[in-house]
Amino acid sequence: MATLSNLQLDGEDDQSSDGIKQPSTSPRVLEARLDLLARISQFTTRHDLEVNAMNLSAICGALSGSNAQLAEIFAKREMSGQPIDQRWLDEVIRQDPEVTSRLGEIEKLMDQLEYALIRFGQTAKSAKDESGEYRGAIDANVKSIAKVQRGEDAAGEISRVVDLSRSVIERIEQVEAAMEKSQFEADQLRENLAKARMEADIDHLTGLPNRRAFERRLVTATERALAQNEPLCVGFCDVDNFKQINDRHGHDAGDRILCAIANTLSANADDQCFVARHGGEEFVVLFYGLDKDAAYLKLDRIRRAQAAKLLMDQETGRPFGKVTFSAGIAQVEEGTDTRAALARADRALYDAKAAGRNRITAV
Ligand code: GH3
Ligand code: MG
Ligand code: MG
Repeated sequence: MATLSNLQLDGEDDQSSDGIKQPSTSPRVLEARLDLLARISQFTTRHDLEVNAMNLSAICGALSGSNAQLAEIFAKREMSGQPIDQRWLDEVIRQDPEVTSRLGEIEKLMDQLEYALIRFGQTAKSAKDESGEYRGAIDANVKSIAKVQRGEDAAGEISRVVDLSRSVIERIEQVEAAMEKSQFEADQLRENLAKARMEADIDHLTGLPNRRAFERRLVTATERALAQNEPLCVGFCDVDNFKQINDRHGHDAGDRILCAIANTLSANADDQCFVARHGGEEFVVLFYGLDKDAAYLKLDRIRRAQAAKLLMDQETGRPFGKVTFSAGIAQVEEGTDTRAALARADRALYDAKAAGRNRITAV
């Protein structure tokens, strides 16, 4: 049977029949690649991790050893016997300098591109206005010279000036059209960029803002709250026993439940709240201007609203029953970094789970 390695070795030379150059990788390297792929796949399945670009990049970096720091973190975690799960991996990825610098680069590039487009749009507009003025002046010249030409003997000189002026006008008209086109394209680019930015901030399953959007919002909200001496709280919500629900009803039904919970959260949130999907079956809520007791009351009302519902799978007609979530709330404190409050909320969530789920703990 043909294997990947003997497929590479079969040919006399490294040209395939259609003339396309084949890579001449040695069987040993191919074997190592297959082995790495198998280990990545086993690791992902064994720890029930999502198959997405971020996860695969981190797992590949750790298992192949190409990212020594990640390799060490993974090895230590395995040796400690603590669980390797999505939440742990999310945190590892978030703190990995390679990942954060890559995201930072993208952000910077987008800013530069947006700035360049704005400048280009402004230049195009002023050039267009300017050429409009020239056009008016030359137009007037042509008219007066043409009058002279009609009133007197046709002087060859004047006629040349008229022709020249006409061709200048033609040229200006062309430039105007080109500038208009450029300006239109620049406007479209800017619009696309704004759309891409918005898209990058949205969680496509639930339509809520995603973690990227949340983290940015957390930074600005923290700055504002501290500057204005107003309280700010963060709530970390996690669906209870969601794995069981997935196992019982399937992943797609699980996705529909996540959408239902996202709806409950956003329908009950007011302009003092910012709701986002943090990832997986976890949601986060920012409470502007509320201290932890007020935030607790607000989120607990939403928790009770969710717990009072008996959910039904619209696709199959099967009842899901009661689906609840637990949450931890923490108030943002001065002198700590923005993630500290989130980490405290996460620990409070852990306490709420330990105390029996379908409840909220505020710290
Ligand atoms: P706990 O009450 O302690 O939170 O238990 P749990 O079962 O909710 O928590 P656990 O972390 O064991 O399982 C979370 C599950 O959520 C595992 C994962 O497969 C599932 N999950 C994560 N993201 C998604 C998603 O986007 N869609 C679906 N359907 N399932 C997801
Ligand atoms: Mg969870
Ligand atoms: Mg859960």
